[in-house]
Amino acid sequence: MAQTAGGYSLRCVACGATYEDDGVRLDCSQEHAPALLRSVFAPAFAVEDTDSMLRYRNWLPCGRRIATSARSGVYRSERLGERLGLSKLWIAFSGWWPERGARLATATFKELEAYAVLARLAEGERRTLVVASAGNTAAAFARAATELELPALIIIPLGAWERLARLVAIGPSVHVVAVDGGQYEDAIALSRSLAADPRFVLEGGVRNVARRDGMGTAMLEAFESIGTLPDVYVQGVGSGAGALAVHEAALRLIATGSRFAAKLPRLFLAQNAPFTPIHDAWSAKSPALIPRTPELAREQIAKLGAPVLSNVSPPYAAAGGVRDALRESNGETYAVGNDEMERARAMFAELEGIEIEPAAGVALGALVQALRRGDLARDATVLLHVTGGGATRREAVRMEQRPALVVRRGDGTFDQPAANARRFASAVR
Ligand SMILES: [Zn+2]
Repeated sequence: MAQTAGGYSLRCVACGATYEDDGVRLDCSQEHAPALLRSVFAPAFAVEDTDSMLRYRNWLPCGRRIATSARSGVYRSERLGERLGLSKLWIAFSGWWPERGARLATATFKELEAYAVLARLAEGERRTLVVASAGNTAAAFARAATELELPALIIIPLGAWERLARLVAIGPSVHVVAVDGGQYEDAIALSRSLAADPRFVLEGGVRNVARRDGMGTAMLEAFESIGTLPDVYVQGVGSGAGALAVHEAALRLIATGSRFAAKLPRLFLAQNAPFTPIHDAWSAKSPALIPRTPELAREQIAKLGAPVLSNVSPPYAAAGGVRDALRESNGETYAVGNDEMERARAMFAELEGIEIEPAAGVALGALVQALRRGDLARDATVLLHVTGGGATRREAVRMEQRPALVVRRGDGTFDQPAANARRFASAVR
């Protein structure tokens, strides 16, 4: 089998083709319907004695050695569990809460993904990594690439700039392009326009195995803390990368043959109404996402209290995608409105003593719905992933910062890849 020096390979979920990892491959080269690649690691669950996500290095696709203190914290909830009537509620806290062992400086789980993606890059990689983001991913990559001094071009909607500039002191290896009047989709479109330019390499989002493997460390943390796989896993999803990550991590744990990892956790996935493409497709038993016009999507996304959950083309129907994971795990999906989300955030703050991001409020709102409907037993082992929180406990960055470049959605060069590449290359220099 083709393997990289790190002792792992990549395998296509659809056709089984296997690849040695070059650090940036996103897709299978064979002709077939869309499918994800997965990393294939040595089967043993080996934990290194390191106080960071790198304790699971054995199951991370590493092309280089990096240092980081990033880590999720997992603990058993008392007060929230009691309020919900759940006897075994565990919280995976992927944010900033050092007292609970959570040390993600930009306060979301995206930091697990960012460090993993950068660690995956081959030692000799010289191209600038291009990352498109609705905000949290941008902050995570800005932080990680600054710390590791790796070149990154980060494209965000201008609306996301202020939060980013407050969270991260952006170093010289990182450049931010902001899209005035744009949403996440516009950032993605711009990043794709750079794909053909040899100076840049696309990070690729959910198709990048390191995104999922990095985020999967939250599940590995949970397995270590709980001692078993949970029965139910709850998360707010946009692309569904987090859900796939957890599912893949669970599959790996089950493959070890451990009696404590016998059954896949049921994925309870939550989306923020009114923009709920995964929930709509799953509820309608549709084999693919149900098409919406771009206008409707834009209008719905503008109403979201958790706009980070606004991915318009999550890998739902792809082999190894969200639909497969929901089917294999006997999962459920939920639509959570802004009011429910805010009530859930307030409840978490009151009972657990820390503020959580809107997307995490969507997850807790879904758990409340699930209990009301009787979708799970009160004595089930439940893992609620708080995918962001504690941001206000971080000291805001005071220094004056600006995007390297601001482009307007719909301006002359927006749809011209070569012109964009020239402009961006000179901004990065
Ligand atoms: Zn394939």
